[in-house]
Amino acid sequence: MSTLTLFQNATHWRTGERVTIAVEDGVVVPIPRRGHEHARVLDARGAVLAPGLVDLHVHLREPGQSAKETIDSGTRAAAAGGFTAVACMPNTVPAVDSPAWVEWVRHRTGNAAHARVYPIAAVTVGQKGGQLAPLMAMARAGAVAFSDDGHPVASAAMMRRALEYARPTGLPIVCHEEDPELRGEGVMNEGFTATRLGLRGIPGAAESVMCRRDVDLAELTGGRVHLAHLSTAQSFETLRDARRRGLPVTGETCPHYWILTDEAVGDYDTNAKMNPPLRTADDVRACIAAIADGTVDCLVTDHAPHTPDEKNRPFSEAPFGVVGLETALALTITFLVEPGHVSLARAIELWTDAPRRIFDLPEVDLEPGSVADLVLFDPRSEWTVNPKLFYSKGRATPFAGWTVRGRVLATMMGGRFTHLAPDVEFEHQLVLPAGAAT
Ligand SMILES: [Zn+2]
Repeated sequence: MSTLTLFQNATHWRTGERVTIAVEDGVVVPIPRRGHEHARVLDARGAVLAPGLVDLHVHLREPGQSAKETIDSGTRAAAAGGFTAVACMPNTVPAVDSPAWVEWVRHRTGNAAHARVYPIAAVTVGQKGGQLAPLMAMARAGAVAFSDDGHPVASAAMMRRALEYARPTGLPIVCHEEDPELRGEGVMNEGFTATRLGLRGIPGAAESVMCRRDVDLAELTGGRVHLAHLSTAQSFETLRDARRRGLPVTGETCPHYWILTDEAVGDYDTNAKMNPPLRTADDVRACIAAIADGTVDCLVTDHAPHTPDEKNRPFSEAPFGVVGLETALALTITFLVEPGHVSLARAIELWTDAPRRIFDLPEVDLEPGSVADLVLFDPRSEWTVNPKLFYSKGRATPFAGWTVRGRVLATMMGGRFTHLAPDVEFEHQLVLPAGAAT
């Protein structure tokens, strides 16, 4: 007989009401009226129950770079962070640029994973920008979007063609916006801190000019553009403008862009080296404003793990990228919800319904019949970020040692727990207590 799981006394993420939610055979079910032979009851004690979080921008590093991360370690980290689904970037070795590689990722992630994994396929062969990858065939193989993330599509003519070919698939192109020549040899944001440290800078315009270009190309072609990891005030303004013009453009940003400035680089701290780089206080303000006014469509981590050895190199030589799956929810609660920039319900929407809509992923809710992809978290619980405890192989985060609020208690995918905090306990009982069906 199947097990019935009850989340008792949970706070509904959207309504704020106290609810009890029952799960059986992988789906949310009505509260049974009679006892159940195999029931386990989790007293949520007012913690918030929500659909599992979704991250559209994750680097799982397989195939080819399993020293940095694996599908197993990356999805385990996702589960610990409250995520039940991630979309993985194709800048692997080799790049996921053919239907066979898309199928490989789907096959590899099918059973073993601790989260659902949706492959993003490359725009160009080998992500080299020279030859268009077979977009329609990769869409048929199960790709949910296309991206040369990690590398910009430098040629406007190539991006135009890619958008024209992507259009009949209905899938967006996720644009890593960076003008390669403006970036040059830059390793951090161009500005006072870069000058003080004697490091080469990347101007914000390296990102924003490419955003403008691709918004105009979306208008020209009718193809869908999704602007990745936006970091500058000008980029957010471009996204706002695209929305006003009614163009098929969406955009995302990451926790470090609404919290940190380039001063976090401090004295050559590679834990603050990512691409795009941390910007200025004005950019941080613009990022928060764009999230608050609905310009930003969804939040992502850009979880980009590297080995500790790689990140321990001198600043100029260390790779770009930090991890984010295990801190994202707390950084959202601590720095967006608690200061009042967005409500908790809106914040959760930006990590659940909103990204599902953009990549056309199956809907999840707390109603009977929905697949049981759920997260239970305590928004008030404080904890200190300790990278040694990460499930990810990556340890680089600019938030190490920070005390944050919002702790994941349990993550469930398809009715199965993929993460349980050590202090979560179940009551096992043969008969449901009277009044359980509240
Ligand atoms: Zn990128």
